[in-house]
Amino acid sequence: MKTLKEDGVLDSFTQYQAETASVKDLSIVHCPNYINSVNEGVLSANALRTLGLEWSDALRNRSFLAPAGTLATAHLALANGLACHAAGGTHHAHYDYGAGYCVFNDLAYAARRLVREGIVEQVLIIDCDVHQGDGTARILACDDQIFTCSLHCRSNYPARRAESDLDVEIDRGTGDEGYLATLEETLSVLTKRYLKPDLVLYDAGVDVHINDGLGQLSLTNSGIRARDEMVIRHFRQQDCAVATVIGGGYGDDINEVALRHSLVFRAALSVATE
Ligand SMILES: [Zn+2]
Repeated sequence: MKTLKEDGVLDSFTQYQAETASVKDLSIVHCPNYINSVNEGVLSANALRTLGLEWSDALRNRSFLAPAGTLATAHLALANGLACHAAGGTHHAHYDYGAGYCVFNDLAYAARRLVREGIVEQVLIIDCDVHQGDGTARILACDDQIFTCSLHCRSNYPARRAESDLDVEIDRGTGDEGYLATLEETLSVLTKRYLKPDLVLYDAGVDVHINDGLGQLSLTNSGIRARDEMVIRHFRQQDCAVATVIGGGYGDDINEVALRHSLVFRAALSVATE
């Protein structure tokens, strides 16, 4: 597998660059004191430990940019049916602290902002990262117009679970076949319980991969590709707009991880051209 550019896949996408989010923008989902601490680079050593990242200006810049990218991707999906973000999925970020490499919660931000602005009535967040979308579930616990669904490995981080609107726990070591069967069942449950959201935000985390450094599931590249196609096709067939974010993915070989993250773009293109 080559890169999206080398494969010519990128030529089929129109590319956009988001504007960065402001402190005020993000305050619809995060505590202003916390956002200011990130903006001013004054997070405590303890806060950085929970976050799992070292402080840098680059971290601040990407933290304010990525949520705006998810919002822009959601707008593009609403206009065109399907759009993919080359970042996002920072689902462990909570109201007043960051955790698990996640500073701000782009999923909660985009969903709540679109609902508050009256642009959409119902949003579904389907999170297939190997880890539970705990921050998203907690921030949005009282948002009736946003449904949170997390499919994650039973034995992975975080130890202290939140309650999504629908949580599906998958056993450690589950491979392509078992995973895809559970996903198919989950999609049909979602359709029964939650017919036709205006917008689906899909976290396509690749830390479900068998060689991932943190994830404990055992999907192959073709399993991830099939997962992404299944989710996108399911909702596009119902005429729901679908915006994808890349989510987690860990390993020493950065090119391998990048190739895994490219799978959702390939899947989106396949479904869009069916
Ligand atoms: Zn993850």
